[in-house]
Amino acid sequence: KSGFIAVIGRPNVGKSTLINTLIGQKIAIMSDKPQTTRNRILCILTQPDAQIVFLDTPGIHKPKHKLGEYMVKAAEGTLREVDAIFFVVDATEKMGPGEHYILERLQATKRPVILVVNKLDLIEREQALPIISNYTSKYEFAGVVPISAKEEMNLDSLLTEAKKYL
Ligand code: GDP
Ligand code: MG
Repeated sequence: KSGFIAVIGRPNVGKSTLINTLIGQKIAIMSDKPQTTRNRILCILTQPDAQIVFLDTPGIHKPKHKLGEYMVKAAEGTLREVDAIFFVVDATEKMGPGEHYILERLQATKRPVILVVNKLDLIEREQALPIISNYTSKYEFAGVVPISAKEEMNLDSLLTEAKKYL
């Protein structure tokens, strides 16, 4: 099995940490400059049963100018070609207009979107469900996986979920 997964989410939700943890070493190509490229390979994860290429998709956030609009369109084109999308959110942050904007664009791609609720280590166990419901009550997801990229919690479940779509 092999395929492509786009990793999307607002800054600071933990995308880089997740990729670095998955790959097991700090080799992921990370730039905090948004909208510099159409898409970048973050890393290629090779496992006995699967090879997954993780892609970064800058430009999916709200455009502020004409070039930005172009970038959003380019990002959406890329997204239609991936096997699945990891939409990463921070469990300690409220869902805001940034999330709504991205989620509407993601729904339009018709690709399976997996809600990855990161920073599980920072919340109480009983807080997880209401946080997840904020998203699942408004948008449809192919799967939901709570994780801690930093503490390496539940990453095997995330990969199992990802492999379903390859
Ligand atoms: P990105 O902008 O989405 O790539 O986010 P980063 O991976 O750079 O992470 C932003 C900050 O959140 C950093 O200080 C990380 O150490 C922290 N962080 C990322 N994942 C976790 C997590 O699972 N738990 C905790 N406590 N902190 C995290
Ligand atoms: Mg980053």
